[in-house]
Order: sequence, then structure tokens, then C-alpha cells
Amino acid sequence: MPAKIIDGKLISAQIKDEIKNEIIGLTEKGSLPPCLTVVIVGDDPASKVYVGNKEIACEYTGIASKTIEMPAETAEKDLLELIGKLNDDKNVNGILVQSPLPGHINEEKVLLAVAPEKDVDCFHPYNVGLVQTGGGTLLPCTPAGVIEMLKRSGIGIEGKDCAVLGRSNIVGKPMAILLLRENGTVTVCHSKTENLADICRNADILVAAIRRPRFITADMVKPGAAVIDVGIHEVGITAKGNRKLCGDVDFDGVSQVAGYITPVPGGVGSMTIAMLMRNCLEAHKSQWEI
Ligand code: NAP
Repeated sequence: MPAKIIDGKLISAQIKDEIKNEIIGLTEKGSLPPCLTVVIVGDDPASKVYVGNKEIACEYTGIASKTIEMPAETAEKDLLELIGKLNDDKNVNGILVQSPLPGHINEEKVLLAVAPEKDVDCFHPYNVGLVQTGGGTLLPCTPAGVIEMLKRSGIGIEGKDCAVLGRSNIVGKPMAILLLRENGTVTVCHSKTENLADICRNADILVAAIRRPRFITADMVKPGAAVIDVGIHEVGITAKGNRKLCGDVDFDGVSQVAGYITPVPGGVGSMTIAMLMRNCLEAHKSQWEI
């Protein structure tokens, strides 16, 4: 029997509606809406699309959003100064500096400059540490989105063998930690892993985040497993002129073996922004002690 499709668009819409309703409730009680400020340096077209999508989600959920565009030649000290001002502004609850930054700006310095309580990407080492120790109200967006997809699809994590493919700071590592927090038994794989296919075949939950188009094939998947595809690759243009996308998983083959599968597009990608909205709301609530 073909796998059940986990519909990221549907689940993310539910989450955005929950956030929207909570914000309506807060503003009815006299609170200001949460406010996200996005800083974009340079004019990378993909970044502009991402930022535009974040603005749309903010508008839908009732989060006030402001985008500050800076030229590519902006000096690092000027960007750090702006972040300092945003940190001090009580009416800004979330700060997001869109990556990639121009080469002359040290991304780590920028990441460390954002006040942890406003770090809605959950990239600051302070927040990364809190996630590791089992706390934190701000969660890494893409991995937290995967956990929501599993939970809302009724897929139990506790006691299950989970394989995470990829160990980046943005996806793989925090994904492994969040699965561990849910009492999964987690194996993390990377480019030096020797018995990758065997580890995959043993997994009840397989999360692929390796930046390799259609790398996971049907023979690498345990029958009935839940397969979560984080990868996004542009592989051409559709007849209608839209971008043709695929993930790290060979969807056609794997969906014949897996129990559950996320599509690309319409899977994890839709969840990341929803979880960013949730972090904005959580940051707002903890800053105003609501
Ligand atoms: P990344 O920083 O490039 O990391 C890729 C990871 O995969 C690395 O840990 C690498 O291992 C590992 N890897 C590469 N080839 C491998 C192989 N043949 N076997 C096993 N492991 C291998 O990527 P990322 O930022 O984590 O993103 C991963 C994918 O998710 C990308 O396609 C990206 O576009 C997508 N993404 C999607 C969302 C979303 O919202 N849906 C968000 C973020 C990222 P080493 O560490 O050994 O090099």
C-alpha cells in the first residue's frame, strides 16, 4: 500500500491559525501584537523571496513585521550597530538576519550579537544550549516543524529508531536533539558514515537533510517507516513555467515502501515559516511576561 502523505501545507495552516487566534486573544486583552524585524543585506534574489514569504505569514497571523534592507557593501560594524538598536527596542520582539550575508561580514559575530530572547531563528549558542538541556521557549524552526508533523500525524517517536541524515547546525544536529527530547533512539549520519544504507533500513523514522537530490531510494527504507524529506532542490522548470522541485528522497520509489512520507514541495518547507511565527509569538510572550 502506498505511503500516507504528510501534508505540510495543511499542518502549517493549522498552526498559523492557532497562532492567529492566540494573537487575537492577546490583543483583545490590550497587548500589542508581536513584532518581527527582518534585516536583509544585499540583494540575493532567493533571500528576497524568503523574506517576502515571511512577511506574508506575519500578515496572516497578525504579527507586525518590518524589513530593513541594507546595501551589500554595508560595513559589519554598521550591521552590528543596527542589531544593537533592535535589541534595545522594546517594541521589537524578534530579530532575524537573513542569510547568506556578504562575504566581508562575519556571520558568527552577527549571530552572537542578536539578543538571545529575540533570536527567533534559534541560532544563538545560548538558545542552542537551552534546547540541548531540554529547555527553551524558542525552538529551531525546521526541526521543530518536523516534530510537529510527526506528532500531528499520530506518529509516535518514543522508543523508535530514528535516523537523521545530515549534521548541519541548522537542521541535522538540532533535529537529532529534538527527537532525543521526544525519547527517540537517534543515530546521526553524515558524509563519513560507513553503513548508511543499513542504518536507514533500520529506522522507524528517517529524516533526510543531506542536500543530495533523490539520494534515499526505496531499498534504503524500512517498510512502514515514516520518511521526512527536508531537502529542497530545483531540478528544472514545469510546463507552466514554475520551478520544479525535488527533495533528498526519491519520492516515487520510497512512497511505495514507507508508511508515511512528506512531499517536496508541500512538506517540511511549509512548516519552517509556521514555526518561525510561533517563535515570534513565544518571544513576545516571554518578553512581556504574558
Ligand atoms: P548542509 O549544511 O549542506 O549539510 C548537509 C549535511 O549532509 C552535512 O552534514 C553532510 O555531511 C551531510 N551529507 C552530505 N552528503 C552526504 C552523503 N552522501 N551521505 C550522508 N550525509 C551526507 O545542509 P542543510 O543546511 O542542513 O540542509 C539540508 C537540506 O535541507 C538542503 O537541501 C536544504 O536546502 C534543505 N533545507 C530545507 C529547509 C526547509 O525549510 N525545508 C530548511 C533548511 C534546509 P558532513 O557534515 O560530513 O559534510
